[in-house]
Amino acid sequence: MVKQHQVPIEELQTACCAALQQLGYADDESRLITEVLMYAQLRGNSQNVVKIAAGALTGPAGVAREEMRAIQEGPLSMQLDGGKRLGMLAVEAAVTQALDRCQQLGFGIAGTCNTSSSTGALGYWARRIADAGFIGLVLSQSPEYVAPHGSSQAVFGTNPIAVAVPTEHEPMVLDMATSAAAWYDLLKAKNDGQAVPADIGYDAHGQQTTDPGAILDGGAIRPFDRSHKGSHLALLVELLTGGLACGAVTQKAAAENWANLVIALDPALLGPAAGFRSRATALLEAVKAAIPIPDGPGVWLPGERGDAQAARCVASGTVPVDLQTLDDIKSMAQGRMRQQSAATPTPGARIDDPLAAAAQVPAAHPPSSQSADTPSSSGSPPLPVGSSGGNGVGPQVAPTAPGVQLGEDLSKDVPTQELVPGSSAPEAGSGGVGQGPQVASDAAGVQFEEIFPDAQWHQADISEDNVHQPASPSSAAQAAASSSDRPRDSISTAEASTSSLPAVSRGARGPAMATRLCHPPKVTEDPYGAISPPLYQTATFHQHSATQCGPYDYSRSGNPTRNQLQAHVAELEGAHRAFAFGSGMAALSTVVRLVPSGGHIVAGRDLYGGTSRLLARVVPNLGITVSHVDTANPAEVAAAFIPGRTKLLMLETPTNPKLDVCDIRGCCEIAQQAGVLVVVDNSIMAPVFQQPLALGADISMTSATKFIAGHSDVTGGLLSVKDPAIADQIYFFQNAEGSALGPFDCWLSMRGLKTMALRMERQAATCALLASALHAHPLISRVNYPGLPSHPAYALHSRQATSGGSLLSFETGSVEASQKIVEQTKLFKVTVSFGSVTSLISLPCYMSHASIPAEVRAARGLPDDLIRISAGIEDPEDLLQDLDQAIQQAMKCVGQKPVPLQLPHQPAADAAAAEKQQLRQRIKDLEGLLAQAQSPA
Ligand code: PLP
Repeated sequence: MVKQHQVPIEELQTACCAALQQLGYADDESRLITEVLMYAQLRGNSQNVVKIAAGALTGPAGVAREEMRAIQEGPLSMQLDGGKRLGMLAVEAAVTQALDRCQQLGFGIAGTCNTSSSTGALGYWARRIADAGFIGLVLSQSPEYVAPHGSSQAVFGTNPIAVAVPTEHEPMVLDMATSAAAWYDLLKAKNDGQAVPADIGYDAHGQQTTDPGAILDGGAIRPFDRSHKGSHLALLVELLTGGLACGAVTQKAAAENWANLVIALDPALLGPAAGFRSRATALLEAVKAAIPIPDGPGVWLPGERGDAQAARCVASGTVPVDLQTLDDIKSMAQGRMRQQSAATPTPGARIDDPLAAAAQVPAAHPPSSQSADTPSSSGSPPLPVGSSGGNGVGPQVAPTAPGVQLGEDLSKDVPTQELVPGSSAPEAGSGGVGQGPQVASDAAGVQFEEIFPDAQWHQADISEDNVHQPASPSSAAQAAASSSDRPRDSISTAEASTSSLPAVSRGARGPAMATRLCHPPKVTEDPYGAISPPLYQTATFHQHSATQCGPYDYSRSGNPTRNQLQAHVAELEGAHRAFAFGSGMAALSTVVRLVPSGGHIVAGRDLYGGTSRLLARVVPNLGITVSHVDTANPAEVAAAFIPGRTKLLMLETPTNPKLDVCDIRGCCEIAQQAGVLVVVDNSIMAPVFQQPLALGADISMTSATKFIAGHSDVTGGLLSVKDPAIADQIYFFQNAEGSALGPFDCWLSMRGLKTMALRMERQAATCALLASALHAHPLISRVNYPGLPSHPAYALHSRQATSGGSLLSFETGSVEASQKIVEQTKLFKVTVSFGSVTSLISLPCYMSHASIPAEVRAARGLPDDLIRISAGIEDPEDLLQDLDQAIQQAMKCVGQKPVPLQLPHQPAADAAAAEKQQLRQRIKDLEGLLAQAQSPA
């Protein structure tokens, strides 16, 4: 029996992620798979990291993957062809699809077929749905391995079922297999040379056997109980998954076509959701309060023990795993793959066959942490990596995720058990430092008998396992083939997990930005269905238990109104998660926190004054150096990187105030090669006109003070983050430093979002008009507006943004003239900032950028006479007139003959006007003729 050792959660995660990458999974896929396996590992569910060590997750190199594609879809449903991918990747997409529909319409169903192998612990997926406030049901079909009651022939799979139900506290998650044992349980027994209990399995000749090897070798196991009921449950899963989602219903193993079904249901469809949750809570409390049998096992709710174990792990920052499994995973991570064993296979073994592969591993690959009293996976406690599926709620843990390059020193300073709301027994305002309920530890050093007491083999609650992947000649050949020539998957799990514009095409195009702005994903509970989301203007939240904390405890750590805004922004930007801060600068300061002391930042030359100040006067005190380069020139950016030290590239495009443009995609490619994180300050375009994450950036920052709120009545900043590991770090700082946006400002920002497209389009149209008029005026020596064809980066900007925007700047050659223009305007308000419904005007060198020393401004080509205009939503002609009179006065003031501001000649517009005039005349003529014809004379 292999002893269990406590290893740091982060160490295991990092190794798993790297091993999966070595198997050929993309980064985001590796992170997702790791997250699912760690969920199981923490809960003692057998769907854990041993799957990697045992070769059950043959990567893209071992399976011919096709594109995942939609077979059919409707408003409530989506069916996906999984393209022979790992079940986990297909189920992730299905959960996203079902959740998306449920958020919009109250119900969502998604089926997948044609997947190969493991779906992981189904409780993980069901919980994702319940975390969003819905009832989740996830069913999975798996290859033939289980005999129907009364037979010894394998017909069913282990066919797991997971149900998750929101309650007033944490969701209840039931995750069960329909068979008496998980495949890995048998494998472990075989490797340990142990017999399994009698009456569990049959050999290939239909004879009962206690030899796990004989069961695995063409035999079968029984459904989970001794009656027909377990068998019927397995059949039900086959009928619903195979029948509805088109997996094979016979010969599943040969067809390599297994199906999954995901259903999300909003309890509010049948009355107030709060009522449902309180009834669910009362029912569970009644079960829990049932008088226990003397000396019995106690009354446990589904998932309760797994959750308690996970809470203990998170509190200690460690998780039990056997060292051999850890070593194997680490070897794989270093490229020393299991192919070693494949090179000298046992007869008939295939390397993509987990059974064969695992059988070649020295007898040290047990399902590492299934404990005697830990039968199921499921439930509430915190997850080691972002677990909320991008909905912005749900448990999160401070930085523990794999693949984090920036701020690696962080994890050394920060206890990994630091939790966000949802953890157990938090200290108010701490962001939840979960100690978890203290249950005697049972994970380490368990003995075989403890893990598999006879009774356990007959429980419904035994962990599911549908990983068994029978041999097929074709896949053996594929396994031998190199992965290098395989196309990268067209649907990334990051996209699938976060964007409510589905990863799988919804036909010609999904809903446009203007529509999505008006229809936020629903992440807060509201029994009354208010169209304007509820405002939770509260600092603290009443807890129903002193030891079990609800999803929120303290608004610095989490607030439903903020989560609602954050989820909406994440959806709009295609981010894994978004975060709202007290200002744009608070958001940027948090990004800077990702750079460790001794690190190096590369930034542009023309930057918002506040950003310049941060980089010049705050960042150096953190032991970080900064280089300013021309970010319009990617080669200059690349040359500025200091290997090993440069951790962050800060782009601002267009820049404030010169409206310079840089090549987001080009810079991101360079940064990615160098392992440098990229943040794009997108305040001027905002997500309506430019989507930095889609162009390759890691983080998109938008000052919500500008277009998001739109009315100059909020200061706020947003970060949209693509990578769950980086998101974890950002959350950590948001909570630790208390920089989050307050509820009312979040609420105002949400209101702003709804009209944002309308405002921005009108403002941009007006600004384009002003830019062309200014461009044609003799006093104006230069106009900076990326929507003008004369802008040096017009073509580049047009490729990466959909509008020139509503900000322009221009020079007069005279500070005096510029000052006069600014002060003489009536409708344009003299103020810093931009993006308001009201038009604004300023002299940046004396206002927003005054904090930059004059010599630095001069070196960066920022002239004192530069005027910046932010176009509002007023009537464009009124604005033109106002600017016209101000310019004329300025000209007089500097002794020049006033020249009126004129719109440049527009041949196309003139031709259209002439045509209209002709038509009007023709109509008039015809009316005249008609009148004549009708007159009695
Ligand atoms: N980035 C840009 C381009 C800005 O113009 C500003 C503010 O004007 C900021 C960041 C900072 O945003 P906030 O003022 O919300 O802190």
